[in-house]
Amino acid sequence: MSKIEITKNNPPSPLSPLPGEGPGVRLSVGETSLASHGIKPTAMRLLVYDELERARRPLSLRELEERMVTADRSTIFRTLTLFLDRHIVHGIEDGSGTLLYELCRGEEECTPEDHHPHFYCERCQRTFCLDDVHIPQVPLPEGFTPLSINYMIHGLCPDCLRRS
Ligand SMILES: [Zn+2]
Ligand SMILES: [Zn+2]
Ligand SMILES: [Zn+2]
Repeated sequence: MSKIEITKNNPPSPLSPLPGEGPGVRLSVGETSLASHGIKPTAMRLLVYDELERARRPLSLRELEERMVTADRSTIFRTLTLFLDRHIVHGIEDGSGTLLYELCRGEEECTPEDHHPHFYCERCQRTFCLDDVHIPQVPLPEGFTPLSINYMIHGLCPDCLRRS
């Protein structure tokens, strides 16, 4: 059994247990995902990951800021930039000029579920994942190779339609 040494200069944060340390320590989904993408799961990175996971829809930097009152904007932004770089999240344009961040469901490659269409509500400005909506393959002219596809439908969400 390995003993965990605690030094004065480097106290372990209660938010970031060292992965794999000691028996019976379960890694969270976030820790496993960050580690498999070669990123150290720091407390801040796990917080951002968990927020995106909990939202179940793409979030903008501003929305993340509102949900994470203890974190400052530039730290969240740096974390998102790293996530984009390592393909932990996708960057999605909502069509109003705002970049949204959504967790990639694959490991190194995107899964088929990653290619779902999105719905942007013009009134509440939320973007929803349309997971169960199948997109037929778009026939492209000869010589064009698609690398990513961005389907964004604009309209009114059920909540806003009810209130109108
Ligand atoms: Zn992906
Ligand atoms: Zn709405
Ligand atoms: Zn989505």
